[in-house]
Amino acid sequence: MGRSDPASLHDIDMEVADRETVADGVVRLTLRATDGKPLPEWEPGAHLDLHLGDELVREYSLCGDPGDREVYQVAVLREQSGRGGSAHVHDVLETGTALRIGGPRNNFALADAQRYLFVAGGIGITPVVPMIAAAEKAGAEWRLVYGGRSRASMAFVDDLAERYGDRVEVVPQDEHGLLDLDGLLGTPQDGLLVYCCGPEPLLAAVEQRCASWPGGALHLECFSPKRSFQNDLSSFH
Ligand SMILES: Cc1cc2nc3c(=O)[nH]c(=O)nc-3n(C[C@H](O)[C@H](O)[C@H](O)COP(=O)(O)OP(=O)(O)OC[C@H]3O[C@@H](n4cnc5c(N)ncnc54)[C@H](O)[C@@H]3O)c2cc1C
Repeated sequence: MGRSDPASLHDIDMEVADRETVADGVVRLTLRATDGKPLPEWEPGAHLDLHLGDELVREYSLCGDPGDREVYQVAVLREQSGRGGSAHVHDVLETGTALRIGGPRNNFALADAQRYLFVAGGIGITPVVPMIAAAEKAGAEWRLVYGGRSRASMAFVDDLAERYGDRVEVVPQDEHGLLDLDGLLGTPQDGLLVYCCGPEPLLAAVEQRCASWPGGALHLECFSPKRSFQNDLSSFH
């Protein structure tokens, strides 16, 4: 398939149309195709490959509006102990910078349901933003519990609270401690799908609490580099 095919997974030449700091250490990039053509469609939970340099490719979840075929949006946390991908995004990508992307792929698709619980930790909020918009549009019952180190480090907090009110529970660790996973997940609930994205310890803790839940209830997305831990989780994607 070529670029002319909207379902293409091939690389696309883009440029940064806008760059905005959306939390401490987090920038949101708005990307537009340099040829001005409509971008391939995507579903909530999808991510892009950003080609950031020789053999430096990193995946970033789409956090914008799937109905907008003009631009893609990603939000990137600077990873202090990383191998350079997120630092490149923060230090090099400015408005007007050209970069190549690999088109959307989805390992974390939102299944149809009447009820959802979304659990996000830190930058793991990115795929969840379009997911809750889709759940809302579909008329589903949903709730988001969003944890992070501090309120200032948590992207999209104000937008989410303004748009969705008390269905969004914001839990900065320095104000309220860790998420109450026993309270949230201690009792299996038929018909409720759980979508969780965040740091490895959160995924492991949620996985443990959901061990006795119905099969297929839990969906996890791991942002960490591929290694044995991710392999362990791959069956839940
Ligand atoms: C599907 C998917 C979606 C993602 N979406 C987002 C997003 O929306 N926003 C976002 O900010 N990030 C996202 N990420 C993470 C992103 O792809 C990068 O991993 C992140 O930006 C860090 O890149 P880096 O090169 O700076 O650090 P990396 O080199 O990738 O390192 C990240 C961390 O892993 C550790 N590490 C690296 N290699 C190893 C190894 N072999 N063994 C053990 N530890 C290791 C590092 O010490 C560091 O703590 C996503 C990842 C995936 C897989």
